[in-house]
Amino acid sequence: MKYLAWLLILMVGIWWFRQKRQSHSTEHKESGAQVMVPCSECGAHVPASDAIRGAKGVYCSKAHRQSHEA
Ligand SMILES: [Zn+2]
Repeated sequence: MKYLAWLLILMVGIWWFRQKRQSHSTEHKESGAQVMVPCSECGAHVPASDAIRGAKGVYCSKAHRQSHEA
């Protein structure tokens, strides 16, 4: 009976560890995944943090913002 109790604790421990790892990996995925936005000029997808924001949309570079808004 003692053996069974230890087995149960071990199984719960493994389950808990896996849950923790899974939630950690998904958290990492979400924080690591960049929101990609398409350039209004050429359509290239660029990370939102790197995109150049213009009056008519977002762009991959300043050159494309200038040519699109000109
Ligand atoms: Zn572009």
